[in-house]
Amino acid sequence: MKIKNIKSFIDFYKTMNVSVSISQQSRFERAKNNTNEKKQYIDEIPLKPNNKESALKRLYKQIEASDCNLKDIATNLVFSDGNKDSNIMLIGEAPAEDEDKLGKPFVGQAGKLLDNMFRNIDLIRNKNFYVTNVVFWRPPGNRIPNKNEINICLPFTKSHIKIINPKLIILLGNIAAQSILNTDLAMGLLRKKDLFYTDDKNKLKIPVKSIFHPAYLLRNPIEKKKVWEDLLKISDYILEKGIN
Ligand code: URA
Repeated sequence: MKIKNIKSFIDFYKTMNVSVSISQQSRFERAKNNTNEKKQYIDEIPLKPNNKESALKRLYKQIEASDCNLKDIATNLVFSDGNKDSNIMLIGEAPAEDEDKLGKPFVGQAGKLLDNMFRNIDLIRNKNFYVTNVVFWRPPGNRIPNKNEINICLPFTKSHIKIINPKLIILLGNIAAQSILNTDLAMGLLRKKDLFYTDDKNKLKIPVKSIFHPAYLLRNPIEKKKVWEDLLKISDYILEKGIN
């Protein structure tokens, strides 16, 4: 491993020294994965930066009006957080309990770890990154969202990407990476690949980096070293491209 800065390396490991585990994985995964690919009507959303705010409000309303089964059991729609004008967009899986209560992504234990991890490479929420999830409501018991739920939310996430128009997308965990990249590959492979998110209709081709989900790291601290390596590579890429 290339260590550029001993202090930040030590800080990072202090940061990652988390012994508390959060919820179990996919306890209530549905037996039936209804791949209902029902098309949702999504307005054309203009890309001009000064229209971002109104485009985001419009998108929020469209998501609110969609017919995802999760919205009837969730407390809040969890849309996004951070700086909408930043060049870096993080995308996670789905809200958990704390996010559902507060209506903001990554505010629980996994969110604290995420903020600490990214602070080590000078990425700070509200300053230079924006964060959302592929699914906008909490699946009951924090189970993994099923295909139907992902398929309903995905067109909105694509619109979300179009509005934010980031120069780099960082995908957090298997569900986000597999949904956005439309692949079955697992994170062990995806994290090593330099891939692109493409949206032909809107002529978008955005570089993507994939890393382990912070909640997975809380359960599997052995993987922290790999994430540190990935974060250093992301940091190098950001410096090289001057996109921070
Ligand atoms: N896990 C996620 O993927 N997203 C959140 O917002 C919280 C936990």
